[in-house]
Amino acid sequence: MAAKILMDMPDDLKMPAIGLGTGSLSQEAELEKTLDSALSLGYRHIDTAFAYDNEVFIGSVLQKWFSSGKLKREDIFVTTKLPMYGVQEDRVEMFMKKSLENLQLDYVDLYLVHFPIGTKYIENGTDDDNYKDIDVFDHLEIWKKMEEQVDAGRTKAIGLSNFNQRQIEKIIEFARIKPACLQVELHVDFQQRGLVEFCHKNDIVVVAYSPLGSPGPSEMEPRRLPPVIHTEDIKKIAEKYNKTPGQIMLRYLLQKNIAAVPKSSNIERLEENIDVFDFEISSDDMRSLDDLEAGNEARLANFKFIPGIEQHPEYPFEE
Ligand code: NAP
Repeated sequence: MAAKILMDMPDDLKMPAIGLGTGSLSQEAELEKTLDSALSLGYRHIDTAFAYDNEVFIGSVLQKWFSSGKLKREDIFVTTKLPMYGVQEDRVEMFMKKSLENLQLDYVDLYLVHFPIGTKYIENGTDDDNYKDIDVFDHLEIWKKMEEQVDAGRTKAIGLSNFNQRQIEKIIEFARIKPACLQVELHVDFQQRGLVEFCHKNDIVVVAYSPLGSPGPSEMEPRRLPPVIHTEDIKKIAEKYNKTPGQIMLRYLLQKNIAAVPKSSNIERLEENIDVFDFEISSDDMRSLDDLEAGNEARLANFKFIPGIEQHPEYPFEE
């Protein structure tokens, strides 16, 4: 297999450009099998979040790999996220510590603010309780607390997820430690070109979530367009390179200097998704893929499962 691509982050931190997305993996047995397979296949970047309810299971698998001597802490890049119900200045440290305890780690590599809007938190409440009411929050105060997590050695780097350009600009202007990463929805039919250009200009690593256009059954929100991975345009290009449509979609992102965290719990597809380093899509084919941009209709995640969120002044997405 050709050398993997690493994304440069502050202080010589390197993020493997393909990570394992674990967002829908909340069952222990499935997660354990998937993570064991992924680590055996060479995945060295795991994307999780407090809200995914799987940090504890990831922690146990990592411990198993560490104690058997097959993996060292510094070999693996772990990202987790401050939940929406943690977007409050007095909750950042608490949730950071909960994540470290769950993951059985002394530090994570990257800690992201999951979403720019905060909701009320009810200790031991259900998801329904915690995603119900929007709470007061101040991005700049939250960011100060994020910076303190770096100072305390609990995370190597900090960043944002689902923030828009205006919100990131405000944080950059004020920050002592600039955001090192933006994780946003991004796939070949939803390319977010302006936002990517802005991030690259500001040395912010862009990580694509749902990089395959989330072709499985959508849990939260109905899709407006059919999954692009199944279209003839992608299939034709895949055949030309003797690759799969998924590999073309991921390689397209890598050639745009965008990292990606595809999720799969199927061993063949896990293997496919990390085997994207030994070929190059030509500039003509890159242009054909550029033309698949479908705009906002192709957006999959809008977080409207939180009542009234789209009316909030900090709602980050254009309708
Ligand atoms: P995705 O990775 O684009 O798609 C996952 C779906 O594609 C699964 O149904 C998977 O099924 C299938 N699949 C995987 N590899 C494939 C391949 N090579 N060919 C065809 N189908 C393939 O979408 P996602 O799960 O929505 O997003 C990935 C990760 O992004 C999440 O797990 C999470 O870590 C992160 N995320 C972050 C946010 C955020 O707010 N920051 C939001 C959403 C997602 P099988 O498992 O059966 O292979």
